[in-house]
Amino acid sequence: MNIEKLEEKANDIRQDIIQMLVAAKSGHSAGPLGMADVFTALYFGGILHYDPKNPADPTRDRFVLSCGHICPVWYATLAHAGFFELSELATLRKLGTRLHGHPHNEVLPGAENSSGPLGQGLSQAAAMAYAGLNMKKEPWRVYCVMSDGEQQEGQTWEAAMFAGKNKLRNLTGFIDRNNIQIDGHTEDIMPLEPFADKWRAFGWHVLEVDGHNIREIIDAANEAKAIYEKPTVIICHTIPGKGVDFMEYRFEWHGKPPNDEEAKKALQELRTLGGKIRSEHQ
Ligand SMILES: [Mg+2]
Repeated sequence: MNIEKLEEKANDIRQDIIQMLVAAKSGHSAGPLGMADVFTALYFGGILHYDPKNPADPTRDRFVLSCGHICPVWYATLAHAGFFELSELATLRKLGTRLHGHPHNEVLPGAENSSGPLGQGLSQAAAMAYAGLNMKKEPWRVYCVMSDGEQQEGQTWEAAMFAGKNKLRNLTGFIDRNNIQIDGHTEDIMPLEPFADKWRAFGWHVLEVDGHNIREIIDAANEAKAIYEKPTVIICHTIPGKGVDFMEYRFEWHGKPPNDEEAKKALQELRTLGGKIRSEHQ
């Protein structure tokens, strides 16, 4: 898929997110919209190795979502990738659904872990990477998506230390650096800066990208594959609520869905973009 097609795909995914949230009448808006380009790059930009017809393929790359609450973007991506029908997206958060408010790996095709409690995903991902590295000559790769808010959890740094010590070169972390969490801005609540330096100090190769520039995201993920003897973390600078003007940058949209009127406005805005989400730097 070329970059233009990938941008269109990300825009489709954003529209699915809005439709899922308004139907569910609950869920998170800002994070999923902000991460649509990263998920698109991972699943459709040739980064992640997966087979939707055989989700348990032992050679697959492992994808771990740590910040489970942004799952609408993951569910929409998995549906577009063929793990289940697009029509199932309408069941988000409904009784009996496989698409829970926070992902449950026993029912969700393509999921390695259940998540919701924050700060745990990197530990799970590091263990998977460690196993791969010790069991296989050609180890599977492990990708872990985290939020910036959960960098305030101590367990994240225990896992970072473990991965650095064990030189988990098959592990790549993506951090949604959107500067918000549910009740405000990260730098007001618990400052993370100097953020990249902290990761470097734990023995990681650190890259920073514009999280809305799909080319940059793909290039960074490919660079991570070529780094030997170190795990890589890619700090993705994103805009929460990206693509919907009245949601962008506003932490108030972290944990709430649009109502009918707001969803209509959001969909209209996304449709008229024609697939073009411009990053800050383009
Ligand atoms: Mg955040």
